[in-house]
Amino acid sequence: MPQRDLTVESIVDRIRASGGRVTPAKRTLIDVLFSSDQHLTAEDITAHVQSTSPETSPSTIYRNLEELEQLGIVVHAHLGRAAAVYHLAGPVHGHLICSNCGTTIEVPSPYFESFTTAVWNDFHFMVDRHHLAISGLCAACFER
Ligand SMILES: [Zn+2]
Ligand SMILES: [Zn+2]
Ligand SMILES: [Zn+2]
Repeated sequence: MPQRDLTVESIVDRIRASGGRVTPAKRTLIDVLFSSDQHLTAEDITAHVQSTSPETSPSTIYRNLEELEQLGIVVHAHLGRAAAVYHLAGPVHGHLICSNCGTTIEVPSPYFESFTTAVWNDFHFMVDRHHLAISGLCAACFER
């Protein structure tokens, strides 16, 4: 879910400002993340990147993802048992995942606000709303 004011150029500028190098492979990776508003696994991302730059190795892509994550440009989340998924850091949201059919619902951050605040007040623990999905059953699976 990229922010509206986010551009590929602004991401490139942030990498340079923090002393990082912008290689063609990294730029392709950013293009892929930018043009998708979905949750992509590292494997999905590798396939997309390699469709335009076949010479890019998966290990380069993993390394670049890690670097972009350290810069706060990319975030990852775990949706059920599947591999971690990546997207550009944008508005924070939570995920609900159906443990039966795998349907994922994105939930805007305010839904988690009172929970997050209560946990912080009572347990002094800051919940990372985006990182883990809440599992359960979607309506179709629940009513079956
Ligand atoms: Zn997400
Ligand atoms: Zn994780
Ligand atoms: Zn379901």
